[in-house]
Amino acid sequence: METYLNLIGGKSVPARDGRVYEHLCPSDGRPFATAPRSGAADVDDAVKAARAAFEGAWGRTPAVERGRILMRIAEAIRREAEPLAALEAKDTGKPMKQARADIAVAARYFEFYAGAADKLHGDTIPFLEGYTVLTWREPLGVTAHIVPWNYPAQIFARSIAASLAAGNACVVKPGEEAGLSIVRIAELAHAAGLPEGALNVVFGIGEEAGAALAAHPDIDHLSFTGSPEVGALVQAAAAKNHVGCTLELGGKSPQVIFADADLEACLPVVVTAITQNAGQTCSAGSRVLVEKKAYDAVVSRLAERFAQARVGTHEMDLDMGALISETQRKRVQGYIDRALEDGIPVIARGKLEPGLPAGGFYVEPVLFGPVPRANRLACEEVFGPVLAVFPFEDEEDAIRLANGTPYGLVAGVWTRDLGRALRMAKGIRTGQVFLNAYGAGGGVELPFGGFKHSGHGREKGFEALLGFTAVKTVVIRH
Ligand code: NAD
Repeated sequence: METYLNLIGGKSVPARDGRVYEHLCPSDGRPFATAPRSGAADVDDAVKAARAAFEGAWGRTPAVERGRILMRIAEAIRREAEPLAALEAKDTGKPMKQARADIAVAARYFEFYAGAADKLHGDTIPFLEGYTVLTWREPLGVTAHIVPWNYPAQIFARSIAASLAAGNACVVKPGEEAGLSIVRIAELAHAAGLPEGALNVVFGIGEEAGAALAAHPDIDHLSFTGSPEVGALVQAAAAKNHVGCTLELGGKSPQVIFADADLEACLPVVVTAITQNAGQTCSAGSRVLVEKKAYDAVVSRLAERFAQARVGTHEMDLDMGALISETQRKRVQGYIDRALEDGIPVIARGKLEPGLPAGGFYVEPVLFGPVPRANRLACEEVFGPVLAVFPFEDEEDAIRLANGTPYGLVAGVWTRDLGRALRMAKGIRTGQVFLNAYGAGGGVELPFGGFKHSGHGREKGFEALLGFTAVKTVVIRH
């Protein structure tokens, strides 16, 4: 059994009361590591360490030097990419190639924000005669980051790198099911020259360490990625302390396929958008909307592709691994069973490799359609490899259907008609719209976030950096 510790004030420490909890490998369901089951006292230690760093060495570090440190962190992650990917794959059950891609993207976040750190500046504003007005972009102070289990290294890196680049000190609570890679990257960050206390990691259970961090009176911002239900709790906790929060919540993202679409290009991307990470992706393309006149042709080719999806252990490195936990497996299987009871036709199924470990949390990917618009598969996030197909009449109907869920995170539109593509992009209410593409290239540079129940605030790109600063206006009379 491997032992992981918190990282507080640059030191590896257990929980104050010595409690731990187990991490299971989803591929076989067996425990392989323990992490501290931190409580409010541990969270308080971490916030104090962050505050001391912000008011001390880290707070005095010039932007150019912050950028250099972040660049060294990116290089360190790249040097350690293979062991980090192996840990990420074992902890989450995702195929090695996905874990490798995640670690590469994590390094890229540090690289991107390293370059951005000293390009962040304020303005001068024309004002009354005899005045000069400046704005400064100042760090917020201590930022708290509550991370989910699905892409631990990536989601940690995207918000931490932006916050550190802006000059904040951070406290991170990884997801309880997976997130061991986070403390390894934080250790690399300190070895790369990040002053102690600038980045603290506190493991624990959501209702314990997570709730204590969200409610801590000495944090200045809260960045949360996870479910809408917990997002609402976290926002309420932030409101009590009058601090802002960024919420990245779920999605029910549509892929809209018109009859003139290039299916050769489109269909592999549509299948990957739901099988990637076993559908446990906030931006999973979980609905396929197909123009009615091309429905049969598109769906039969989609079925062929979908049926090729293969599920195995993280080491087999196939299209999909296990789901994160038995709870999640049961939840996803419940959606599948209910759809079958509702009489929704199965168009295709992916395949479990023979001889998978009995204790693993596997589920067979399923393509359902046509799905009635009032069915729960039309609007609820499954967070698993379940793809629902819907026919639509025309552009107007496609926009209505695309927008017909409580969510608004990402959408894909597939058509050769540029005018139609742009009309669709205008009409669909999501934080990102891909035209003849989907989820390309990790998207480190691209502002990302939701409308409606998908959350608010933006992560990624330069936009996220701005979100980790406050503007101070300085008015000079002369
Ligand atoms: P979750 O909301 O249960 O947990 C997310 C994090 O919150 C974990 O670290 C957890 O320990 C913590 N937490 C749980 N209860 C808490 C509480 N009461 N107070 C404070 N923190 C608490 O979500 P999950 O199951 O880890 O992740 C799946 C969900 O996250 C899905 O709905 C998915 O769509 C969403 N998600 C969104 C994005 C995005 O960027 N939009 C990315 C990944 C996941």
